[in-house]
Amino acid sequence: MTAIHYDLEFLEDGRHIELISIGMVAEDGREYYAVSRDMPVRKIRKDKWLMENVVPSLPKGAGDRRNHVPKSWLFDYADPVVKRRERIADDVMDFIRAAGPDVELWANYGAYDHVCLAQLWGRMIDLPEGVPMFTHDIQQEARRQGLGWNDLPKQESGEHNALADARHNQTVRQWLAAHATTKES
Ligand SMILES: [Mg+2]
Repeated sequence: MTAIHYDLEFLEDGRHIELISIGMVAEDGREYYAVSRDMPVRKIRKDKWLMENVVPSLPKGAGDRRNHVPKSWLFDYADPVVKRRERIADDVMDFIRAAGPDVELWANYGAYDHVCLAQLWGRMIDLPEGVPMFTHDIQQEARRQGLGWNDLPKQESGEHNALADARHNQTVRQWLAAHATTKES
């Protein structure tokens, strides 16, 4: 089994979940990070929480005269991690398939992340072969072991940067796996 830990930042208005950025960390050592240039910029600007917590970690440069990024841009569209949603869908499919046939997806409070990920390819029925139909949840595994959030390793930095969050998900999931082994032996 190869685990892929991931995290998405998204805009969520109670009806839709729209991708902002995605970070993925595979147990085989590969990592992926992308920012969607198709994110709903106007809605994001009106979302105080996203503006304070998520937007600061997007590729920057706004107002920086050296790279001529206009102040009006929410993020630097020219940064190589910024990609079209369709391109991200292709990249993510390749990333997951490269982990082999026995792959597990893991996220933290991952229900919304899973839907937003799956919608990269459209409807549920459009999910590409090789992409798991569900995401394991770190929260569920912690409860199964009788642990609360405060018992788990803490994230030191980068919270709400999708790649930093995905790396932390890997740390916690591997810690939980080791903890389960210790308890059972
Ligand atoms: Mg996050």
